[in-house]
Amino acid sequence: MKSVVCFDDVLLVPGFSDITSRAKIDISSTLGKHQFRLPIISSPMDTVTESPMAAAIFDYGGLSIIHRYNTIDTQCKHVECLPADSLVGAAIGVTGDYIDRATALYDAGANVLCVDIAHGHHILMKDALHRLREIFGNAIHIMAGNVATLEGFNDLADWGADSIRVGIGGGSICSTRIQAGHGVPTLQSVLDCSASDRGAVLIADGGIRNSGDIVKALAAGADFVMLGSLLAGTDESPGKRIKTAQGDFKTYRGMASTDAQMAWRGRTSSIEGISSLVPYRGSVLGILDELALGIRSGLSYSGAKNLLEFQVRANFIQQSPAAITEGTTHIRSKAVSFNAK
Ligand code: IMP
Repeated sequence: MKSVVCFDDVLLVPGFSDITSRAKIDISSTLGKHQFRLPIISSPMDTVTESPMAAAIFDYGGLSIIHRYNTIDTQCKHVECLPADSLVGAAIGVTGDYIDRATALYDAGANVLCVDIAHGHHILMKDALHRLREIFGNAIHIMAGNVATLEGFNDLADWGADSIRVGIGGGSICSTRIQAGHGVPTLQSVLDCSASDRGAVLIADGGIRNSGDIVKALAAGADFVMLGSLLAGTDESPGKRIKTAQGDFKTYRGMASTDAQMAWRGRTSSIEGISSLVPYRGSVLGILDELALGIRSGLSYSGAKNLLEFQVRANFIQQSPAAITEGTTHIRSKAVSFNAK
């Protein structure tokens, strides 16, 4: 049986650096013909990405994918209301009205169509990608996913995907591995898929909890990371701020959770996600500031000036359980032990 690693199992070894200022580090990344200053994409989830998130993330240099759990008209309005020069993606499915939706989103000005299904290495994905290519040719960037394996990655690339979301079962609100027993740690999938010779853009998706995980995903071969929980709970995410005695919160839910399924189609089948409250964290711009600083810091520790150089220089080691404890803030408060006596 193959052994696999997840984010907490590995570390990057610091290397010589001649970079005198982190401001000189370039963390831009390319998605087809589009260049982004920040390698971050917001997830097509109904508690993460509608037009306010898309506008904020684009201003900061990243990309957003407007979720598809609404009417075609509503989704198009989220695309249309963005300033003319914004780049934005929009999600579609692989059944039902997805061709009408894709056409309407293209006409509304979407720059990226994201074929968004839980198990992307599937015959329905193949049919959808072929149809979309027949209709749109190369007029629009097509993102697809999710997959967990190199075989899946290569197949989606061969079927017509320009970029591919990699990661199954790792999302913070995901219960796929509990429900269906399937999945691969996201970092392992990224490591495996980065061996592809197809040239499709690799997007690490699911289970990214902090800038350290982003740094590891980029080092492993991801061109971009897709984020859900890290961007939820902000002013720009959809949904109301909930005030409680314990502080303020916002809802963050998996799109296969009972709540989300009931909200968009009034029934449930195969519940593979949960609904949760996450602390309210103000504007997403503050979060992006922290993440961008952390990514720059990560490249600096490897002495890399840009992401391409980083992937060449990055040197992973596997860590022991004791090392994981050492690597987590672990000071014991004197006050607590004094009081405990
Ligand atoms: P997070 O960044 O760890 O919160 O993970 C977000 C990712 O989880 C999304 O981009 C999707 O790939 C995935 N996801 C969203 N909803 C669900 C769900 O209900 N079940 C399983 N995975 C989900």
